[in-house]
Amino acid sequence: MVRRLRQGSPGGKPRLGHAGSLLILCCCFVIAGPLSAAQVENMRLWAAPDHSRLVFDLSSPAQANVFTLDNPSRLVIDLDASQLRSDSDKLNLQGSAIEAVRTGVRNGNGLRIVLDLKREVEPEHFSLAPNEQYGHRLVVDLTYPGESAVEDPIDPIEAMIREQEIAAQRAQAEAKLGGKPQSPAAEAVKKAQPHPKRDIIIAIDAGHGGEDPGAHGPHGTREKDVVLDIARQLQQIVNRTEGFKAVMIRDGDYYVGLRQRTRIAREQKADFFVSIHADAFTSARPNGSSVFALSQGGASSETAKWLADSENRADLIGGVDGNLSLQDKDEVLRGVLLDLTMTATLNDSLAIGGQVLDRLGRVNRLHKSRVEQAGFVVLKSPDIPSLLVETGFISNPTEEQQLKSASHQRDLAQAIFSGMRAHFQQNPPPASLLAWQRDNSRNTAGNEYRIQPGDTLSEIASRHRVPLAMLKQANELNGDAIRVGQVLRIPNS
Ligand SMILES: [Zn+2]
Repeated sequence: MVRRLRQGSPGGKPRLGHAGSLLILCCCFVIAGPLSAAQVENMRLWAAPDHSRLVFDLSSPAQANVFTLDNPSRLVIDLDASQLRSDSDKLNLQGSAIEAVRTGVRNGNGLRIVLDLKREVEPEHFSLAPNEQYGHRLVVDLTYPGESAVEDPIDPIEAMIREQEIAAQRAQAEAKLGGKPQSPAAEAVKKAQPHPKRDIIIAIDAGHGGEDPGAHGPHGTREKDVVLDIARQLQQIVNRTEGFKAVMIRDGDYYVGLRQRTRIAREQKADFFVSIHADAFTSARPNGSSVFALSQGGASSETAKWLADSENRADLIGGVDGNLSLQDKDEVLRGVLLDLTMTATLNDSLAIGGQVLDRLGRVNRLHKSRVEQAGFVVLKSPDIPSLLVETGFISNPTEEQQLKSASHQRDLAQAIFSGMRAHFQQNPPPASLLAWQRDNSRNTAGNEYRIQPGDTLSEIASRHRVPLAMLKQANELNGDAIRVGQVLRIPNS
């Protein structure tokens, strides 16, 4: 499940609101140490590709001092007036930056924890107040320098303006060529640029992870585990399908920030983003799948935010060298462009959502019969159609069992994929293999085929299952030379 922007579900009933509270609580930095000694009741560790996160469960808040030492590389965590009530040997260090953990008493009543490190880290720490699942916590993040996926977000308006400029230049160039008979050189240029036939990139986001377990079922099933299973099933289906490629936003038991999830999708040039969750409710009865797209309100506020951000950035860069391409763009134009993009993206999301909901309805009960809309942060990419799928209610005992079953997980993954594939077959992104296949079938009419840029005779022959010699003979061709726009007769083989 995910935290709704407004209190309660669209139906007005309360939902469990555990997830996402972490982000709010992050603001409460280290609280002054209490008079009584804090007990470290448990230690938990998560290894992500770009950081390790160590969490101390505490009986009460404790003042922490965290610093690194070199030769050999170590991280020291000093906790004032604290005692260790947990066995640090139980920590599974596999895949983390930590080689070993040592503990000792410091200044009589303090606790010192030394982490022997395998690699250079940049430490960061903060305290968290209790929530429904955990008590007081101290979180220590060990970030790997240079490996963080955090980058400056690419400004979608800037990208759009650049694309339009390139398209305009290309159109101008083609208009010039079109005015006179085309030279062999111009023909060669056209032939030299084969269709990219690129894969459609599907970003798969398993919700929650690490110290954020998400919702849990009456028998203890955790949302973060079942949604990762479903995400991996979906990954397999996507990667097995020609013309599609999956990108996993998280591929293990660690937490990825919500904005970071959309940033990874953008970096990977995703054509579509799907976040997978399992719903929960205060009573055991509700069941069924739901599909969410971004709300209009969420889209509008995000448009405003992107505009504000990119304008700030323009000011900043403009102040340095005064030579930023966007500096001279009309702000109104920028706003209009972004609005148009956001609207088109939202329309795509709703269209894909409809298809996905339809397929989900064939394998599971539907909680709501239409695509719902909400202001979820992970849905806020301005130019990547995005959906959030609540696969079922983990709080419902029957669905909790189903969500754990590999065959049900596969059915859900297959339904999600069938819905998105149906959309992309009808609306393939330009340059994708699916676009090429569609154009190809369009260019074959009856027994005739119109030659497209990048075509070769042997390819055309094999595509139409005709021997090359027969194709040449039927069209009285001597060599292999063909030109774009030429119409070939396809003989019956
Ligand atoms: Zn969730």
